[in-house]
Amino acid sequence: MKESRKEQKPGLFVPTIDRAKCEGGYHHACADAKCPCVPACPYSVLEIRSLTAEDKRLLSLGDRFRAWIHRNRQAYVVKADGCTACGRCIEACPVPHVIRLKRRISA
Ligand code: SF4
Ligand code: SF4
Repeated sequence: MKESRKEQKPGLFVPTIDRAKCEGGYHHACADAKCPCVPACPYSVLEIRSLTAEDKRLLSLGDRFRAWIHRNRQAYVVKADGCTACGRCIEACPVPHVIRLKRRISA
């Protein structure tokens, strides 16, 4: 999936991760490629972390089980202000529609 785009001023957009889909390196292509979204980002915006209790609570029972299969690891945005909306992480992620870029209301 090609998602490269013109870079924007940092902080105008933020990546969002679909908690029901992110595999955190423990399934299929994401495991083979070792969470490629993280090294794809030139600005260290993403990191793999344990799913928070709050994020787990917001998942359906089925999605919670799925997250457990993936060892409750997922990509997290740790440096939102560095994102230039370049799309490299989206291009690198082998699971469709996990990462989306959302315009921030105020930067
Ligand atoms: S966002 Fe994509 S590449 Fe990154 S950990 Fe999740 S599934 Fe893997
Ligand atoms: S869109 Fe670009 S800058 Fe933003 S998190 Fe993804 S790879 Fe990093």
